[in-house]
Amino acid sequence: MDERPDKNRLSRRGFLAAGAGATVASGLAATVASGSAEAPSDAAQRKKYAVVIDARRCYGVHACTVACKAEYKVPLGENRSWVEEVEKGNYPDVSRSFLPRLCNHCNKPSCVSVCPTGATWKRDEDGIVVIDKDICIGCKYCVQACPYDMRFVNEDTGTADKCDFCIHRVSQGLQPACVEACPSRARIFGDLNDPDSEVSKLIAKNPLTVLRPEKGTKPNVYYIGADHTDERDPRPDGMYVDVKTNRRYKERR
Ligand code: SF4
Ligand code: SF4
Ligand code: SF4
Repeated sequence: MDERPDKNRLSRRGFLAAGAGATVASGLAATVASGSAEAPSDAAQRKKYAVVIDARRCYGVHACTVACKAEYKVPLGENRSWVEEVEKGNYPDVSRSFLPRLCNHCNKPSCVSVCPTGATWKRDEDGIVVIDKDICIGCKYCVQACPYDMRFVNEDTGTADKCDFCIHRVSQGLQPACVEACPSRARIFGDLNDPDSEVSKLIAKNPLTVLRPEKGTKPNVYYIGADHTDERDPRPDGMYVDVKTNRRYKERR
């Protein structure tokens, strides 16, 4: 994992020795108030990694979910990535679609600004939002702050966990495990700062959506042809909608 300035970082042991309860409370207030999670400008980033999900190609086989679980030995009941199933309509006008989910590596990540130890940050060199497990104290502030339910505390490590765009693979020129496993190429990974990358070309020529734009986090996972219908949306015509999301939450976040 890369290095960054030390001014906000504490060791796990040092943090606890300093008095975790009081420090967590004041750290939260300070970091939220200062808005220190502001992402670097695009120009400052050498790469800007993103994923485009072409939902028109996804047929819900969960190859991505399984590949990610296997790559990271994600504990039972948790996921770094999953695929939602959206069923809607009243017979005979019905549809079923799929919505793959993973960390958005947001430009304004709300998970970063709440972290009291500096254990999670957005990398200047490629925009990946990472977690340093040697610094994380497992306080779950970031888990609560992510509006997409992308984080969890890994029971094996006791620290926060989530998708990291498969840094260990990408740094060797490989594709992320979920991208490589997808049989229909519904997931495309690449660098938005490279105008010739496939993600740049797809983004230039397709209408796009992101998850929950009203949260202001500026996601870097873009959807083509996705149905974002939510069970909680107003449906004056009484249309049937059923969204199956991840195991931890029955209701989409
Ligand atoms: S999706 Fe959630 S965990 Fe990922 S960068 Fe955005 S706020 Fe953080
Ligand atoms: S659980 Fe999240 S907020 Fe708490 S120290 Fe770890 S990365 Fe930071
Ligand atoms: S990029 Fe890697 S960590 Fe992220 S969802 Fe895909 S396989 Fe999992």
